[in-house]
Formats: sequence, C-alpha cells, structure tokens
Amino acid sequence: MPRQAEGTLTAADESTTLVIPFVVPAGIRSFRLKFNYTPDHPEGAELRNQISASIYGPDGKTAEINRPDRWSDGVTVGPEPSGGVGAKIVSPGEWKLFISTHRVTSPDVHYTVDLEWHLPSDDVAPARVDITPLPDGWLRGDLHAHTWYSDGHWTTSALASFMFERGLDFSTLTDHNTIDGLPEFLSYDGTALTTLGGNEVSTFRGHMLALGVTDRLVDWRDPDGTLRPLPDIADEIHDAGGMAVICHPLSIGDPWCCGCRWEHEDMMPGNARAVEIWNGTWDDDKNGGGIKLWQTWLSEGHRLVATAGSDMHGPPQPAHLKRRAAHNVVYAIERGRDAVLKALKAGHSYVSAGPVCTLQAEENGQVWIMGDTVEASEPVTVTATWNGVPDGARLMLNVDGHPQPIPTSIQGVFETVLNPASFRWATLEVWDDEGALLVSNPIYGQR
Ligand SMILES: [Zn+2]
Ligand SMILES: [Zn+2]
Repeated sequence: MPRQAEGTLTAADESTTLVIPFVVPAGIRSFRLKFNYTPDHPEGAELRNQISASIYGPDGKTAEINRPDRWSDGVTVGPEPSGGVGAKIVSPGEWKLFISTHRVTSPDVHYTVDLEWHLPSDDVAPARVDITPLPDGWLRGDLHAHTWYSDGHWTTSALASFMFERGLDFSTLTDHNTIDGLPEFLSYDGTALTTLGGNEVSTFRGHMLALGVTDRLVDWRDPDGTLRPLPDIADEIHDAGGMAVICHPLSIGDPWCCGCRWEHEDMMPGNARAVEIWNGTWDDDKNGGGIKLWQTWLSEGHRLVATAGSDMHGPPQPAHLKRRAAHNVVYAIERGRDAVLKALKAGHSYVSAGPVCTLQAEENGQVWIMGDTVEASEPVTVTATWNGVPDGARLMLNVDGHPQPIPTSIQGVFETVLNPASFRWATLEVWDDEGALLVSNPIYGQR
C-alpha cells in the first residue's frame, strides 16, 4: 500500500490539527486509507496517546473515526458502507485527512498514512472511456431507475456507483410508489455525480414519473383507496416544482406487464410535460413506437419534452451492457440538481445512445436552442452539429414528421433555412438499421 505521508507528533502538537491533503483522480470507485501511530500506550505512562482522524471530501465531511484500531486496519471510502463509514460516491479532487492531537503522553509519536485506489470493475469501466466528450455546459445522465426500496435488486449506492462508473453526470432514483430510498440516494450528490429523485407513480393503467419531487410521495390513491385522476396528480407534481413524465407509453401492457402501458384517456398527453420516448434498451415497438407517439402529439400542438430512462432494477448482466440504451444529454450550463431539472423543463436536452449534437436557430444575433420557440418573423438559419455518429448511421432533420436527410459523417455541421411560420417542430435525429441513436428535443416554430 503506497505511503502518502509520515511524521512525528510531540507534546507541542497537542490540541492542534494537522491537515494532510491528497488528490483523488477522476474515475476512482473507492479508496482505502490506513492511519497508524505508535506508540499507542507508552510504557510507564498513565494515559495513552489520544489522536483522532477525519476525512473530508471536496463535497464536505466524510468520515470520523475515533477508534485507532479501525484506522490502523484501513477504512474504505466508496459506494459500499464499510467499518463505520457510510456509502459515498467518491468525488475526484482535493481531499484532506485531518489528524487531531488530543493528548501526547510519550516524548513523540510516529504516524504513517497509506493510501490505495480502487478502480471500477472491467465490466463497467470501458463505457466511461469510450464515451464521446460533451461541449462545455452539457451533462449526461439517467432519469429513471429502481432499487430494493421497490421492486429492484440493488441498493441505492450500487445504483449511484453504476451510473457514475458508466460516465454519467447525473442519476435519478424513481422507485414505484415510494420515496423511502431518496434520503440515502440524494446524500450521494456531489461533484462526482448529481443525484435527482422522485417516484414512479405506478397505476393500473400507466406509469408517470413525479420527477424532481423529493419532499413527498406523490400517490395515485386517496387515503380512502380511491384512484385519483391522473391530470390532478400531474398538477400536484408541477405545483411541487417537479415534472410529470409519461413513462414507456407503448410498453407491453396487460396481462404481461400489468399497468405498464399508458391507457389514461384523460391524459393523452393532457397536462404531462414530458414523455419517456426511450425506456430501457432499444425496442422497436416500445421505443420506436414511443418516438412516433411523441411526434404525433407534437404535431397536434403539444409541447412535450422527450426523455430517456434506463429503468434499471439491478446490476446488469454483461450481455445487457452490450444492448443499445440511451441517456439524456442536458444543457444545464452548471452542475447540480436544480440546474439539471431547469434545463429539462425547458427541453434543453436530447436523448442519445452515444452521439452528441447541438441544434439551434439564429436570426439577427438571437439564438434559440432545442426546446425553445423561435420568436422571429423572418426565416431563420438552423444549424446542427454532431460528433460520434458511427458508420452506417443516417442523420436527418425531422420537420413536422417529414425527415430531411443530412449528409452524414462521424463529425460535422449542417445549415439550412426554415421559416418559423411554416413549421411546428423540428428535431435532429440519428438512426441506423437497428433503430434510433439520437433524438433531439424540437426547436418549435409558430405554425
Ligand atoms: Zn414503469
Ligand atoms: Zn420504472
């Protein structure tokens, strides 16, 4: 175990704190820190030496252990709770070990600090490395997942560490009809990973995320057991500062997955603010159909943010990791829960299985990005940029359901002119023979 620091403390150091900084590199899953001092109880002295240690992460205080035997064996800071230290998602950056000297009863005390890094397992790590870099201000993340607090198989910390190791900047816990896991999950929020929460309001005829509502359970039943109208539930979510997201509307329904298909006739899409067009790994019916349904709603004049959700319920099999899944890429400008939620509400986001993009309209120095309505009376220049588009994929600008092909390359720029008066919505999309790879939220026209 590599030595990080060593030194000597004397009576002159009593009632002082020695600060030992150390830098945690990006991508570390956990680390083990050993702190030892000797002698513990000097021969002939009535009292032992008394020295305590604490670890502070970039996000605040992390661990306080007063029993020297725990430190001498080493404490592990990481996603699994260990030896008196709670579960942590390890943020990269400057950490500090505080050594506080309460009492020195020997002429001097020799201390050592050893530190060892642990990387994510090979099954998960490559995704982090392969991922296409995002321009400044953009973050990628997941908006829908479960733990053992509902019907999942993993802990809140296993979920958070998995999403972090996959290279995501934010992760969301949305258990079915419970928020019991949220205090734990939200406590992992930090510079490594932003954690968001809510619950998946899971009814007999559809599922809806109460995204961002973390201070209460949004329930689908009244206290007497009667079912609440879904539009009322969506109103409650929006009044609480959240976002009602219709989940996997075209999931296979009863009797195979009871309640999974969206069948609330009073909310098609009604006052929903978003629809999860890509749920889990790619499926033509569920996700291809979900994209079509969303675009039908856009053409009817609804303004609906498209989202993706992993809907993961536990640690994936290696085969699962090879299947095509999407995350959300959000123009949050800065990190943090509020910034991510605000950008999502504005539709400043797209869903992607890998490629990255921008889409904007411009006229006379005014710029509108995806999610915005073009406020111009003259034709506007629409510019798309992209990166990480694989061979065999096809780019298109989809205007009101009419795809216009774009010459495709791994990376590139495309410019065209649209008259805001003549279109309702325009998205940037990337597809290949298997299905979608990227779907942006629309720039809205005025038609
Ligand atoms: Zn669901
Ligand atoms: Zn779910």
